Amino acid sequence: MNKGAEVGRGKTKVLYQNPGLAETLVVVQQDSITAGDGAKRHTIAGKGRLAALTTSRVYRLLNAAGIPTHFISGGEDEDQNEMVVRQCEMIPIEVVVRGIAAGSYLKRNPGVKSGTIFAPRVVEYFFKDDARHDPQYTAEQIVEEKIATTHEVALMSDYARLVFDILAHAWRLQDVLLVDLKVEFGRAKSKDGASEIVLADVIDNDSWRIWPAGDQALMLDKQIYRNIAAPSASDLDAVKSKYEEVAERVGRFARRSGGFVSIIMGSASDKGHADKIAAALDGFGVPSRQNVASAHKTPLFALQKVQQVDNMLGRVVFITIAGRSNALSAFVDAATANPVIASPVLGSTWGGMEVLSSLALPGGVASMVVLDAENAALAAAKILAADDSVIFGRVVVKQYRNRMQIQESDARQNAPAGNGKAGA
Ligand code: 5GP
Repeated sequence: MNKGAEVGRGKTKVLYQNPGLAETLVVVQQDSITAGDGAKRHTIAGKGRLAALTTSRVYRLLNAAGIPTHFISGGEDEDQNEMVVRQCEMIPIEVVVRGIAAGSYLKRNPGVKSGTIFAPRVVEYFFKDDARHDPQYTAEQIVEEKIATTHEVALMSDYARLVFDILAHAWRLQDVLLVDLKVEFGRAKSKDGASEIVLADVIDNDSWRIWPAGDQALMLDKQIYRNIAAPSASDLDAVKSKYEEVAERVGRFARRSGGFVSIIMGSASDKGHADKIAAALDGFGVPSRQNVASAHKTPLFALQKVQQVDNMLGRVVFITIAGRSNALSAFVDAATANPVIASPVLGSTWGGMEVLSSLALPGGVASMVVLDAENAALAAAKILAADDSVIFGRVVVKQYRNRMQIQESDARQNAPAGNGKAGA
């Protein structure tokens, strides 16, 4: 890649201008490995390449999930370890999320047992200052010292938790426990010229603790290097082989499971509702197919459709839409071992009753009853998320945005006069 002048340098990376694209930089990860705030330092040939592979693969998953990040492209070319990222004003805070008590947390909290599970997870802030060994800061200190605003600190904490959720899910699919994670943030210029908080910096095998099968003795991360006071060449080779394994495993993070949703409607008149569900599924990146089959009029044909779908490749969730009774849902539910979600059209009439509530459904039920299209799609996406971290990430990001909307509406209720309509 055609790089411009060097603009910055960390312990294990160098930043360059990118003459090819305005407001972006090129990040090159190096072959160095350090510990103790840079006091211990070694070179492992090829580590920069593995770090770039790991970082870019992690960021591809997070971008796909909808987390705002600085990552644009690169990191996976055969002979280079260069990534293109949005130019950011970095916030000099390390945000650490912990699911399990380990590392410096145990030193600072001697009363806590190693391996304690945190629920909710713990978020800590450390001010980046090698000379002072990255002192821990409170959110209030960060605001007080004008390092970031209250709103920015809240966003960093929320995004860090989401990132942890998504990466923990991706690791769990490989039976690996994500113990803790360090991330950093920057301010990037958004499309409208305003400043927005984005996840930035590298996220590689130096940034987390990961324990296969939840067993600390099997650790794959940089802690192996930290634990050896004076590593020999063969120790460094052993460290490198873990980094190789991690880069390869992280390559599976954004792999799609091939799951899909089969929407079965009792009549073509349900098409509008089916399309709403399909559009909501599309928002999660979940493909869907639609069929019309009636339990009342074409039971054998309906059975054949279910069997065809059951035999397709990939995990399937059925969503049934029935206009006049829940017979189709009960029928499909009995015919398949896959999950069935009934999403009847609100306001339709069943057995003389208008469908207003899932509690009033006559004619048998499916595995799950969800009335509106959006929530039926969300329920299906959650099921498919079990083995697809991209879908899982989109679900947690969507739920987070839903929560934020409610909280913002709430905040507006008691805002000083004149602000009540802001953003409405
Ligand atoms: P601890 O505070 O227990 O030493 O580290 C918590 C988590 O943050 C661990 O996953 C550790 O790898 C990561 N971490 C802490 N400090 C740094 C740092 O300076 N650089 C990187 N890359 N990760 C760090």
